[in-house]
Amino acid sequence: MSDEQANQRAFPMRGVSQPTRDEALALPKVHISRHPVVAHKMAMLRDKRTAAPDFYRLVRELGTLLAYEATIDLETQPIAIETPIEGMSAQSLVGGVGIVPILRAGLGLADGFRQVLPDASVWHLGLRRDERTLEPIEYYNPLARAVNLQVCFAVDPMLATGGSATDALNTLVRYGVPHLRYVGLIGAPYGVVKLREAHPGVPIYLAALDDRLDDRGYICPGLGDAGDRQFNTL
Ligand code: URA
Repeated sequence: MSDEQANQRAFPMRGVSQPTRDEALALPKVHISRHPVVAHKMAMLRDKRTAAPDFYRLVRELGTLLAYEATIDLETQPIAIETPIEGMSAQSLVGGVGIVPILRAGLGLADGFRQVLPDASVWHLGLRRDERTLEPIEYYNPLARAVNLQVCFAVDPMLATGGSATDALNTLVRYGVPHLRYVGLIGAPYGVVKLREAHPGVPIYLAALDDRLDDRGYICPGLGDAGDRQFNTL
C-alpha cells in the first residue's frame, strides 16, 4: 500500500467538504428527538467519564425512548377482547415488526427496542468493507426473504459517513424487506445527507444531530467509539 493510500484509509474525511446542520435539518423525513429525557441521557452518554456498564444501560434506555418516538405513526387495527369487566374493541398493531441491529454497535439500541416491542423479530446484520475493493462484505446475515412486516428498524448508533448505514439498507432492500426506518443516536450532517441521497424513502430517527466529522470520520463532538464504549474494548 502506498503512503497516499494509507493516509486516505486513516483520514478518509481529510479535505472533504461537509454540509451544515441546517442543510441536514432541511431534508425530508429526518427526525431529531426534542424530548428532554433523551437530551438528559445523551449528556450522560457523551461524557467521557461514563464507564461501560452505565454506557450500555444508557444506550439501551435511549433505544427504548427512540423506539417510542419512531413507532408513533404505526398502523393499528381493531380487535375484540374481553376485559375482566366486559368486552370491548381494542387496537392491535398491524403486521409484524423487524429490528435489524448492525453489528456490533447496534446491539444496545436493539435491546432497548425490544423493551417496547418484545414480539419483534430481530435479524443481526454484520457488514464490513473489503480492505482492497472497499465493497461491503456481509459476514453475518440470517435475513429471511419472506417477511410480513409493517415496519423494519435498522439500528446503529452513529450515522457518521453514512457508509455502513447505506450498505445495511442496500442489503435489506435486496432481501425485499419492506417499510424500512433507520434509527441512531447521533448523526453527522454528512452521513444524514449521504443516507438521504441513497435511500430517499427511509425515515431517519436520531437522538441528536452533531456538527461535523473529523479527518478520521469520527462525529464531533460525538461520544467516541460507540462499539468500544458499550463493550468495554477501548
Ligand atoms: N463510529 C463511532 O463509533 N463513533 C463515531 O464518532 C463515528 C463512527
